[in-house]
Amino acid sequence: MPAPVYLFNTLGRKVEELVPLREGHVGLYCCGPTVYNFPHIGNLRTYVFEDLLVRTLRHAGYTVHHVMNITDVGHLVSDADDGEDKMLVAAKREGKRSEDIARYYTEVFFEHCRALNITRPDVVCNATDHIQQMIALIQRLEAKGLAYQSGGNVYFDVQQFESYGEFAGLDLENLRAGARIEVDEQKRGPLDFALWFTKSKFENQELQWDSPWGRGYPGWHIECSAMAIEYLGETFDIHCGGIDHIPVHHTNEIAQSEGATGKPFAKVWMHGGFLVVSKEKMAKSSGEFLTLQVLLDRGYDPLAYRLFCLSAGYRGELSWSWEALDGAFSTLKRLRNLVVDLKAKAQAPQSDTESQAVTDAKAAFDREIFNDLNMPNALAVLHQSLGSQSLAPHEKLALLAYFDSVLGLKLPEWEEQQAPDELLILAQQRVQARQERNWAEADRLRDEIAAAGFAVEDTPSGPRLKKL
Ligand code: AMP
Ligand code: ZN
Repeated sequence: MPAPVYLFNTLGRKVEELVPLREGHVGLYCCGPTVYNFPHIGNLRTYVFEDLLVRTLRHAGYTVHHVMNITDVGHLVSDADDGEDKMLVAAKREGKRSEDIARYYTEVFFEHCRALNITRPDVVCNATDHIQQMIALIQRLEAKGLAYQSGGNVYFDVQQFESYGEFAGLDLENLRAGARIEVDEQKRGPLDFALWFTKSKFENQELQWDSPWGRGYPGWHIECSAMAIEYLGETFDIHCGGIDHIPVHHTNEIAQSEGATGKPFAKVWMHGGFLVVSKEKMAKSSGEFLTLQVLLDRGYDPLAYRLFCLSAGYRGELSWSWEALDGAFSTLKRLRNLVVDLKAKAQAPQSDTESQAVTDAKAAFDREIFNDLNMPNALAVLHQSLGSQSLAPHEKLALLAYFDSVLGLKLPEWEEQQAPDELLILAQQRVQARQERNWAEADRLRDEIAAAGFAVEDTPSGPRLKKL
Protein backbone atom coordinates (compact mmCIF):
# COMPACT_ATOMS: atom_id res chain seq x y z
CA MET A 1 0.00 0.00 0.00
CA PRO A 2 1.52 3.36 -0.96
CA ALA A 3 1.88 6.03 1.72
CA PRO A 4 -0.84 8.71 1.85
CA VAL A 5 0.02 11.75 -0.28
CA TYR A 6 -1.75 15.10 0.04
CA LEU A 7 -1.93 17.42 -2.96
CA PHE A 8 -3.47 20.81 -3.72
CA ASN A 9 -6.24 20.26 -6.25
CA THR A 10 -7.03 23.33 -8.36
CA LEU A 11 -10.45 21.72 -8.78
CA GLY A 12 -11.91 22.73 -5.42
CA ARG A 13 -8.80 24.67 -4.45
CA LYS A 14 -7.80 22.69 -1.41
CA VAL A 15 -5.24 20.16 -0.29
CA GLU A 16 -6.71 16.66 -0.31
CA GLU A 17 -5.53 13.08 -0.04
CA LEU A 18 -4.80 11.48 -3.38
CA VAL A 19 -7.19 8.60 -4.01
CA PRO A 20 -6.26 7.10 -7.38
CA LEU A 21 -8.76 5.29 -9.58
CA ARG A 22 -6.72 2.09 -9.40
CA GLU A 23 -5.02 1.27 -6.12
CA GLY A 24 -1.29 1.72 -6.26
CA HIS A 25 -1.34 3.31 -9.75
CA VAL A 26 -1.37 6.92 -10.86
CA GLY A 27 -2.15 8.06 -14.40
CA LEU A 28 -0.56 11.48 -14.95
CA TYR A 29 -0.82 13.82 -17.93
CA CYS A 30 1.41 16.88 -18.25
CA CYS A 31 1.06 19.49 -20.98
CA GLY A 32 4.33 19.41 -22.87
CA PRO A 33 6.29 22.10 -24.66
CA THR A 34 5.40 23.87 -27.87
CA VAL A 35 8.56 23.06 -29.77
CA TYR A 36 9.12 26.26 -31.72
CA ASN A 37 11.95 27.74 -29.69
CA PHE A 38 14.37 26.99 -26.86
CA PRO A 39 12.63 26.33 -23.57
CA HIS A 40 13.27 29.20 -21.15
CA ILE A 41 14.10 28.57 -17.53
CA GLY A 42 10.52 29.51 -16.58
CA ASN A 43 9.16 26.64 -18.68
CA LEU A 44 11.75 24.39 -17.10
CA ARG A 45 10.56 25.34 -13.61
CA THR A 46 7.20 23.77 -14.49
CA TYR A 47 8.89 20.55 -15.66
CA VAL A 48 11.03 20.43 -12.50
CA PHE A 49 7.80 20.68 -10.46
CA GLU A 50 6.22 17.83 -12.45
CA ASP A 51 9.36 15.75 -11.99
CA LEU A 52 9.20 16.31 -8.23
CA LEU A 53 5.59 15.14 -8.31
CA VAL A 54 6.48 11.96 -10.22
CA ARG A 55 9.44 11.21 -7.94
CA THR A 56 7.36 11.87 -4.81
CA LEU A 57 4.59 9.54 -5.98
CA ARG A 58 7.10 6.80 -6.83
CA HIS A 59 8.80 7.34 -3.46
CA ALA A 60 5.38 6.88 -1.81
CA GLY A 61 5.11 3.50 -3.54
CA TYR A 62 2.92 4.30 -6.53
CA THR A 63 3.44 3.03 -10.05
CA VAL A 64 3.18 6.20 -12.11
CA HIS A 65 2.26 6.25 -15.78
CA HIS A 66 3.50 9.65 -16.90
CA VAL A 67 2.33 10.96 -20.26
CA MET A 68 3.49 14.20 -21.87
CA ASN A 69 2.62 15.63 -25.25
CA ILE A 70 4.76 17.58 -27.64
CA THR A 71 2.83 20.40 -29.31
CA ASP A 72 4.10 20.46 -32.87
CA VAL A 73 1.02 21.96 -34.51
CA GLY A 74 -2.01 24.07 -33.64
CA HIS A 75 -0.70 26.37 -30.88
CA LEU A 76 -1.38 29.83 -32.24
CA VAL A 77 0.51 32.91 -31.18
CA SER A 78 -2.31 33.77 -28.79
CA ASP A 79 -3.90 31.00 -26.72
CA ALA A 80 -7.27 32.36 -27.84
CA ASP A 81 -7.09 31.31 -31.53
CA ASP A 82 -5.38 34.48 -32.51
CA GLY A 83 -2.48 34.94 -34.93
CA GLU A 84 -0.45 32.35 -36.77
CA ASP A 85 0.68 28.87 -35.74
CA LYS A 86 3.80 29.23 -33.58
CA MET A 87 5.52 26.41 -35.49
CA LEU A 88 5.10 28.23 -38.77
CA VAL A 89 6.35 31.51 -37.35
CA ALA A 90 9.50 29.64 -36.30
CA ALA A 91 9.79 27.84 -39.66
CA LYS A 92 9.72 31.17 -41.46
CA ARG A 93 12.13 32.75 -39.00
CA GLU A 94 14.67 29.98 -39.46
CA GLY A 95 13.95 29.18 -43.12
CA LYS A 96 13.21 25.52 -42.32
CA ARG A 97 10.31 23.09 -42.55
CA SER A 98 8.16 23.01 -39.46
CA GLU A 99 8.88 19.30 -38.87
CA ASP A 100 12.61 20.08 -38.73
CA ILE A 101 11.89 22.88 -36.27
CA ALA A 102 9.86 20.46 -34.14
CA ARG A 103 12.53 17.74 -34.19
CA TYR A 104 15.32 20.17 -33.33
CA TYR A 105 13.56 21.91 -30.43
CA THR A 106 12.21 18.63 -29.06
CA GLU A 107 15.79 17.36 -28.82
CA VAL A 108 16.91 20.60 -27.18
CA PHE A 109 14.04 20.35 -24.70
CA PHE A 110 15.01 16.84 -23.60
CA GLU A 111 18.68 17.79 -23.44
CA HIS A 112 17.80 20.55 -21.00
CA CYS A 113 15.57 18.18 -19.04
CA ARG A 114 18.43 15.67 -18.80
CA ALA A 115 20.76 18.39 -17.54
CA LEU A 116 18.23 19.17 -14.82
CA ASN A 117 17.89 15.46 -13.99
CA ILE A 118 14.21 15.48 -14.98
CA THR A 119 12.99 11.92 -15.52
CA ARG A 120 11.74 11.30 -19.06
CA PRO A 121 7.97 10.62 -19.12
CA ASP A 122 6.88 7.04 -19.88
CA VAL A 123 5.00 8.25 -22.95
CA VAL A 124 6.01 11.25 -25.04
CA CYS A 125 3.46 11.82 -27.79
CA ASN A 126 3.49 14.23 -30.70
CA ALA A 127 0.31 16.04 -31.64
CA THR A 128 0.96 15.42 -35.35
CA ASP A 129 0.85 11.64 -34.73
CA HIS A 130 -2.64 11.79 -33.19
CA ILE A 131 -4.70 13.71 -35.72
CA GLN A 132 -7.16 10.82 -36.20
CA GLN A 133 -7.90 10.68 -32.45
CA MET A 134 -8.54 14.44 -32.49
CA ILE A 135 -10.89 14.14 -35.47
CA ALA A 136 -12.80 11.32 -33.74
CA LEU A 137 -13.17 13.42 -30.58
CA ILE A 138 -14.43 16.43 -32.55
CA GLN A 139 -16.98 14.14 -34.25
CA ARG A 140 -18.23 13.02 -30.81
CA LEU A 141 -18.65 16.69 -29.88
CA GLU A 142 -20.52 17.38 -33.09
CA ALA A 143 -22.84 14.43 -32.48
CA LYS A 144 -23.67 15.88 -29.06
CA GLY A 145 -24.41 19.33 -30.43
CA LEU A 146 -21.37 20.83 -28.72
CA ALA A 147 -19.49 21.75 -31.88
CA TYR A 148 -20.49 23.69 -34.99
CA GLN A 149 -18.99 24.48 -38.33
CA SER A 150 -18.61 28.07 -39.39
CA GLY A 151 -16.62 29.65 -42.20
CA GLY A 152 -14.87 26.33 -42.77
CA ASN A 153 -13.65 25.98 -39.17
CA VAL A 154 -15.13 23.86 -36.41
CA TYR A 155 -15.73 25.52 -33.04
CA PHE A 156 -16.68 24.38 -29.56
CA ASP A 157 -19.99 25.93 -28.55
CA VAL A 158 -19.35 27.19 -25.04
CA GLN A 159 -23.00 28.16 -24.56
CA GLN A 160 -24.00 24.48 -24.83
CA PHE A 161 -21.64 23.31 -22.08
CA GLU A 162 -23.28 24.32 -18.86
CA SER A 163 -20.37 24.18 -16.46
CA TYR A 164 -17.95 25.99 -18.79
CA GLY A 165 -15.39 27.99 -16.82
CA GLU A 166 -16.44 26.71 -13.36
CA PHE A 167 -13.05 25.09 -12.90
CA ALA A 168 -11.24 28.40 -13.33
CA GLY A 169 -13.93 30.42 -11.55
CA LEU A 170 -14.39 32.47 -14.71
CA ASP A 171 -16.84 35.35 -14.73
CA LEU A 172 -18.31 34.54 -18.14
CA GLU A 173 -20.53 37.61 -18.42
CA ASN A 174 -17.62 39.93 -17.88
CA LEU A 175 -15.38 37.95 -20.19
CA ARG A 176 -18.00 38.02 -22.93
CA ALA A 177 -18.49 41.74 -22.54
CA GLY A 178 -14.76 42.36 -22.68
CA ALA A 179 -13.99 39.97 -25.55
CA ARG A 180 -12.83 41.43 -28.81
CA ILE A 181 -15.54 40.15 -31.16
CA GLU A 182 -13.66 41.23 -34.25
CA VAL A 183 -10.96 38.65 -33.56
CA ASP A 184 -12.96 35.92 -35.25
CA GLU A 185 -16.31 36.73 -36.76
CA GLN A 186 -17.04 33.09 -37.48
CA LYS A 187 -17.72 32.33 -33.82
CA ARG A 188 -21.24 32.23 -32.38
CA GLY A 189 -20.02 33.33 -28.98
CA PRO A 190 -16.84 35.20 -28.11
CA LEU A 191 -15.61 32.44 -25.79
CA ASP A 192 -16.05 29.66 -28.37
CA PHE A 193 -12.75 28.16 -29.45
CA ALA A 194 -11.49 26.37 -32.53
CA LEU A 195 -11.36 22.60 -32.68
CA TRP A 196 -10.36 22.37 -36.31
CA PHE A 197 -9.05 24.97 -38.72
CA THR A 198 -9.28 24.64 -42.48
CA LYS A 199 -7.42 26.63 -45.04
CA SER A 200 -10.10 29.28 -44.73
CA LYS A 201 -8.23 30.52 -41.66
CA PHE A 202 -4.71 30.54 -43.08
CA GLU A 203 -3.67 30.06 -46.65
CA ASN A 204 -0.44 28.13 -47.27
CA GLN A 205 -0.63 26.26 -43.99
CA GLU A 206 2.23 23.79 -44.28
CA LEU A 207 0.78 21.23 -41.87
CA GLN A 208 -2.54 19.90 -43.18
CA TRP A 209 -4.61 16.76 -42.88
CA ASP A 210 -7.82 15.54 -44.49
CA SER A 211 -10.85 15.69 -42.24
CA PRO A 212 -14.63 15.53 -42.57
CA TRP A 213 -14.56 19.35 -42.55
CA GLY A 214 -11.90 19.75 -45.24
CA ARG A 215 -8.14 19.80 -45.25
CA GLY A 216 -6.80 21.57 -42.24
CA TYR A 217 -5.26 21.23 -38.81
CA PRO A 218 -6.39 20.92 -35.21
CA GLY A 219 -6.76 23.52 -32.50
CA TRP A 220 -4.29 23.36 -29.64
CA HIS A 221 -6.67 22.36 -26.84
CA ILE A 222 -8.14 19.31 -28.59
CA GLU A 223 -4.64 17.80 -28.81
CA CYS A 224 -4.32 17.35 -25.08
CA SER A 225 -7.85 16.00 -24.66
CA ALA A 226 -7.33 13.44 -27.42
CA MET A 227 -3.89 12.29 -26.27
CA ALA A 228 -4.76 12.15 -22.57
CA ILE A 229 -7.80 9.98 -23.36
CA GLU A 230 -5.74 7.83 -25.74
CA TYR A 231 -3.08 6.96 -23.18
CA LEU A 232 -4.83 7.31 -19.82
CA GLY A 233 -8.53 6.73 -20.50
CA GLU A 234 -11.56 9.03 -20.33
CA THR A 235 -11.05 9.63 -16.60
CA PHE A 236 -7.60 9.61 -15.05
CA ASP A 237 -5.86 10.73 -11.87
CA ILE A 238 -3.75 13.87 -12.26
CA HIS A 239 -3.35 16.57 -14.91
CA CYS A 240 -0.58 19.16 -14.61
CA GLY A 241 0.61 22.31 -16.29
CA GLY A 242 1.69 25.87 -15.62
CA ILE A 243 -0.70 28.21 -13.81
CA ASP A 244 -1.36 30.18 -17.02
CA HIS A 245 -3.24 27.17 -18.39
CA ILE A 246 -6.09 27.42 -15.88
CA PRO A 247 -8.36 30.01 -17.56
CA VAL A 248 -8.03 28.96 -21.21
CA HIS A 249 -6.22 25.74 -22.09
CA HIS A 250 -7.33 23.57 -19.19
CA THR A 251 -10.78 25.13 -19.07
CA ASN A 252 -11.16 24.17 -22.73
CA GLU A 253 -9.67 20.71 -22.26
CA ILE A 254 -12.28 20.03 -19.56
CA ALA A 255 -15.13 21.34 -21.71
CA GLN A 256 -14.12 19.19 -24.71
CA SER A 257 -13.31 16.01 -22.80
CA GLU A 258 -16.23 16.05 -20.39
CA GLY A 259 -18.55 17.29 -23.14
CA ALA A 260 -17.62 14.35 -25.36
CA THR A 261 -17.48 11.58 -22.75
CA GLY A 262 -19.99 12.76 -20.16
CA LYS A 263 -17.45 11.70 -17.52
CA PRO A 264 -15.10 13.65 -15.27
CA PHE A 265 -11.76 14.19 -17.05
CA ALA A 266 -8.89 14.47 -14.53
CA LYS A 267 -9.66 13.98 -10.83
CA VAL A 268 -6.81 16.19 -9.62
CA TRP A 269 -5.46 19.29 -11.38
CA MET A 270 -2.11 20.67 -10.31
CA HIS A 271 -0.51 23.90 -11.49
CA GLY A 272 3.02 25.17 -11.16
CA GLY A 273 3.58 28.84 -10.34
CA PHE A 274 5.50 31.16 -12.62
CA LEU A 275 9.12 32.12 -12.61
CA VAL A 276 9.06 35.90 -12.68
CA VAL A 277 11.64 38.50 -13.55
CA SER A 278 10.94 41.76 -11.74
CA LYS A 279 7.33 40.66 -11.31
CA GLU A 280 6.85 39.97 -15.06
CA LYS A 281 6.39 36.40 -16.23
CA MET A 282 9.21 35.06 -18.31
CA ALA A 283 7.75 34.38 -21.76
CA LYS A 284 9.09 32.73 -24.88
CA SER A 285 7.07 34.95 -27.18
CA SER A 286 8.56 38.17 -25.83
CA GLY A 287 11.82 37.23 -27.55
CA GLU A 288 13.96 37.95 -24.50
CA PHE A 289 14.34 35.12 -22.11
CA LEU A 290 16.93 33.11 -20.22
CA THR A 291 17.77 29.61 -21.32
CA LEU A 292 19.70 26.93 -19.48
CA GLN A 293 22.51 27.49 -21.97
CA VAL A 294 22.96 31.07 -20.76
CA LEU A 295 23.35 29.73 -17.22
CA LEU A 296 25.88 27.13 -18.43
CA ASP A 297 27.82 29.77 -20.35
CA ARG A 298 28.14 31.75 -17.15
CA GLY A 299 29.64 28.77 -15.36
CA TYR A 300 26.64 27.53 -13.40
CA ASP A 301 25.88 23.87 -12.93
CA PRO A 302 22.31 23.16 -14.19
CA LEU A 303 21.60 21.39 -10.90
CA ALA A 304 22.09 24.73 -9.14
CA TYR A 305 18.99 25.88 -11.04
CA ARG A 306 17.16 22.74 -9.92
CA LEU A 307 18.11 23.48 -6.31
CA PHE A 308 16.96 27.10 -6.78
CA CYS A 309 13.54 25.77 -7.90
CA LEU A 310 13.38 23.50 -4.85
CA SER A 311 13.91 26.44 -2.54
CA ALA A 312 10.32 27.64 -3.04
CA GLY A 313 6.92 25.95 -2.95
CA TYR A 314 5.84 24.94 -6.46
CA ARG A 315 2.55 26.85 -6.34
CA GLY A 316 3.84 30.34 -5.67
CA GLU A 317 5.69 32.74 -7.90
CA LEU A 318 9.44 32.41 -7.82
CA SER A 319 11.47 35.56 -8.39
CA TRP A 320 14.44 35.09 -10.61
CA SER A 321 17.77 36.74 -9.77
CA TRP A 322 21.41 35.89 -10.41
CA GLU A 323 22.09 36.45 -6.68
CA ALA A 324 19.54 33.80 -5.76
CA LEU A 325 21.14 31.40 -8.26
CA ASP A 326 24.56 32.17 -6.75
CA GLY A 327 23.15 31.26 -3.34
CA ALA A 328 21.80 27.95 -4.67
CA PHE A 329 25.11 27.19 -6.40
CA SER A 330 27.14 27.75 -3.21
CA THR A 331 24.74 25.55 -1.26
CA LEU A 332 25.10 22.84 -3.90
CA LYS A 333 28.89 23.05 -3.75
CA ARG A 334 28.83 22.92 0.04
CA LEU A 335 26.63 19.82 -0.07
CA ARG A 336 28.95 18.20 -2.60
CA ASN A 337 31.99 18.86 -0.41
CA LEU A 338 30.13 17.34 2.51
CA VAL A 339 29.43 14.23 0.45
CA VAL A 340 33.14 13.90 -0.35
CA ASP A 341 34.01 14.25 3.35
CA LEU A 342 31.34 11.78 4.41
CA LYS A 343 32.56 9.24 1.88
CA ALA A 344 36.09 9.60 3.22
CA LYS A 345 34.93 9.17 6.82
CA ALA A 346 32.19 6.56 6.44
CA GLN A 347 32.85 3.15 7.93
CA ALA A 348 30.92 -0.05 7.35
CA PRO A 349 27.79 -0.12 9.56
CA GLN A 350 28.05 -2.19 12.74
CA SER A 351 24.58 -3.60 12.42
CA ASP A 352 21.84 -4.02 9.82
CA THR A 353 19.18 -2.37 11.94
CA GLU A 354 18.36 1.21 11.16
CA SER A 355 18.90 3.58 14.08
CA GLN A 356 16.00 5.58 15.48
CA ALA A 357 17.67 8.80 14.33
CA VAL A 358 17.67 7.58 10.70
CA THR A 359 14.06 6.40 10.90
CA ASP A 360 13.04 9.77 12.35
CA ALA A 361 14.86 11.74 9.66
CA LYS A 362 13.22 9.68 6.90
CA ALA A 363 9.80 10.18 8.47
CA ALA A 364 10.38 13.93 8.78
CA PHE A 365 11.39 14.15 5.11
CA ASP A 366 8.39 12.09 3.97
CA ARG A 367 6.02 14.21 6.02
CA GLU A 368 7.16 17.30 4.12
CA ILE A 369 7.14 15.91 0.59
CA PHE A 370 3.81 14.12 1.04
CA ASN A 371 2.35 17.42 2.23
CA ASP A 372 1.82 18.92 -1.24
CA LEU A 373 5.52 18.61 -2.17
CA ASN A 374 6.89 20.93 0.50
CA MET A 375 10.43 20.96 -0.87
CA PRO A 376 11.78 23.94 1.13
CA ASN A 377 10.95 22.07 4.35
CA ALA A 378 12.26 18.80 2.93
CA LEU A 379 15.56 20.59 2.20
CA ALA A 380 15.60 21.83 5.79
CA VAL A 381 15.35 18.20 6.94
CA LEU A 382 18.31 17.37 4.70
CA HIS A 383 20.43 20.20 6.14
CA GLN A 384 19.50 19.27 9.71
CA SER A 385 20.36 15.62 9.12
CA LEU A 386 23.74 16.45 7.64
CA GLY A 387 24.56 18.66 10.61
CA SER A 388 23.24 16.21 13.20
CA GLN A 389 25.55 14.93 15.96
CA SER A 390 23.51 11.77 16.41
CA LEU A 391 24.06 10.42 12.90
CA ALA A 392 27.22 8.60 11.79
CA PRO A 393 28.75 9.39 8.36
CA HIS A 394 27.44 6.17 6.80
CA GLU A 395 23.96 7.00 8.12
CA LYS A 396 24.13 10.47 6.63
CA LEU A 397 25.11 8.97 3.29
CA ALA A 398 22.22 6.50 3.48
CA LEU A 399 19.84 9.37 4.21
CA LEU A 400 21.24 11.41 1.35
CA ALA A 401 20.47 8.56 -1.04
CA TYR A 402 16.94 8.32 0.39
CA PHE A 403 16.33 12.08 0.03
CA ASP A 404 17.98 12.39 -3.35
CA SER A 405 15.69 9.86 -5.03
CA VAL A 406 13.13 12.69 -4.75
CA LEU A 407 15.27 15.84 -4.81
CA GLY A 408 17.25 14.65 -7.83
CA LEU A 409 20.38 16.68 -7.07
CA LYS A 410 22.71 13.74 -7.84
CA LEU A 411 24.40 14.17 -4.46
CA PRO A 412 25.07 10.52 -3.60
CA GLU A 413 27.08 9.94 -6.76
CA TRP A 414 29.19 13.06 -6.30
CA GLU A 415 32.90 12.24 -6.22
CA GLU A 416 35.84 14.43 -5.47
CA GLN A 417 36.71 16.28 -8.66
CA GLN A 418 40.20 15.63 -9.95
CA ALA A 419 42.06 18.88 -10.45
CA PRO A 420 43.96 19.26 -13.74
CA ASP A 421 47.75 18.65 -13.62
CA GLU A 422 48.67 22.31 -14.09
CA LEU A 423 46.77 23.19 -10.91
CA LEU A 424 48.56 20.44 -9.01
CA ILE A 425 51.85 22.00 -10.14
CA LEU A 426 50.68 25.39 -8.87
CA ALA A 427 49.74 23.77 -5.55
CA GLN A 428 53.28 22.30 -5.27
CA GLN A 429 54.78 25.70 -6.06
CA ARG A 430 52.62 27.11 -3.28
CA VAL A 431 54.09 24.58 -0.80
CA GLN A 432 57.53 25.71 -1.91
CA ALA A 433 56.59 29.40 -1.49
CA ARG A 434 55.28 28.73 2.01
CA GLN A 435 58.45 26.87 2.97
CA GLU A 436 60.36 29.92 1.80
CA ARG A 437 57.97 32.10 3.85
CA ASN A 438 57.04 33.93 0.67
CA TRP A 439 53.47 34.54 1.82
CA ALA A 440 52.60 36.98 -0.94
CA GLU A 441 53.52 34.42 -3.60
CA ALA A 442 51.70 31.65 -1.71
CA ASP A 443 48.55 33.78 -1.59
CA ARG A 444 48.84 34.68 -5.26
CA LEU A 445 49.09 30.99 -6.17
CA ARG A 446 46.10 30.16 -3.97
CA ASP A 447 44.05 32.86 -5.74
CA GLU A 448 45.10 31.57 -9.15
CA ILE A 449 43.97 28.07 -8.19
CA ALA A 450 40.71 29.45 -6.80
CA ALA A 451 40.09 31.32 -10.04
CA ALA A 452 40.25 27.93 -11.78
CA GLY A 453 37.55 26.64 -9.42
CA PHE A 454 39.55 24.76 -6.78
CA ALA A 455 40.39 25.34 -3.12
CA VAL A 456 43.70 24.23 -1.64
CA GLU A 457 43.58 22.29 1.57
CA ASP A 458 46.83 21.58 3.38
CA THR A 459 46.87 18.04 4.72
CA PRO A 460 49.69 16.04 6.38
CA SER A 461 50.15 14.15 3.11
CA GLY A 462 50.50 17.34 1.05
CA PRO A 463 48.13 19.81 -0.62
CA ARG A 464 44.69 18.57 -1.66
CA LEU A 465 42.57 20.37 -4.27
CA LYS A 466 38.83 20.46 -3.77
CA LYS A 467 36.29 21.75 -6.28
CA LEU A 468 34.85 25.03 -5.06
P1 AMP B 1 4.81 26.24 -23.74
O1 AMP B 1 6.02 25.55 -24.32
O2 AMP B 1 4.77 27.70 -24.04
O3 AMP B 1 3.54 25.54 -24.13
O4 AMP B 1 4.96 26.14 -22.16
C1 AMP B 1 5.40 24.98 -21.51
C2 AMP B 1 5.04 25.02 -20.04
O5 AMP B 1 5.74 26.06 -19.37
C3 AMP B 1 3.57 25.25 -19.77
O6 AMP B 1 3.12 24.33 -18.78
C4 AMP B 1 3.50 26.68 -19.26
O7 AMP B 1 2.44 26.85 -18.39
C5 AMP B 1 4.83 26.78 -18.55
N1 AMP B 1 5.35 28.17 -18.41
C6 AMP B 1 5.38 29.15 -19.34
N2 AMP B 1 5.97 30.27 -18.86
C7 AMP B 1 6.35 29.99 -17.58
C8 AMP B 1 7.03 30.72 -16.54
N3 AMP B 1 7.46 31.97 -16.70
N4 AMP B 1 7.23 30.09 -15.35
C9 AMP B 1 6.83 28.83 -15.15
N5 AMP B 1 6.20 28.07 -16.10
C10 AMP B 1 5.96 28.64 -17.29
ZN1 ZN C 1 -2.38 20.66 -22.63
